[in-house]
Amino acid sequence: MKVDLDSALLVDTQSTDRLLFIPSPNFNARPAGTEIDLLVIHSISLPPGIYTGNGVIDFFCNKLNIADHEYYSQIKNLKVSAHLFIKRDGQIIQFVPFSQRAWHAGESYFQDREACNDFSIGIELEGSDFEPFTDNQYASLILCTQAIIRAYPAITPRECIVGHQDISPSRKSDPGPFFDWEGYLASFG
Ligand SMILES: [Zn+2]
Repeated sequence: MKVDLDSALLVDTQSTDRLLFIPSPNFNARPAGTEIDLLVIHSISLPPGIYTGNGVIDFFCNKLNIADHEYYSQIKNLKVSAHLFIKRDGQIIQFVPFSQRAWHAGESYFQDREACNDFSIGIELEGSDFEPFTDNQYASLILCTQAIIRAYPAITPRECIVGHQDISPSRKSDPGPFFDWEGYLASFG
């Protein structure tokens, strides 16, 4: 796995079906001159706790069918995205080039800076606060992270990889108590 710096997209050097690019309209330019120096880990599932279907993909592409689930009426007007989404089976979907500003963090603070979307990359894991993530997800997440930190070396793993719950603590709880931070971060030395 590597990041192609011209397109700012992941390239899977080993497998052709693990990685998909599905463009989301929900992005804009980062502020001029912004260095990408934060990686934010999230979790999401749509409907909440359900891991079948394409709810998250549809949501990030503004194609959610409101009639599919009663919960969807609560989120129908939200315009959000992440750079990457990792499904339960480890499939990776990129929605926004890393060079662009995806809309994943919302109101947020990292150290003394606000608006973390400006300078971060967001990865969503398909999951919830209530159960573990899968081995295939950790394997894909580690591959993606290794590629990202090679391309954007200001993202130093121990300091600059955080959970959404860390940067928006009053609003957000993801990726939640089941995310294995020690196991994940140990992969980067
Ligand atoms: Zn989140």
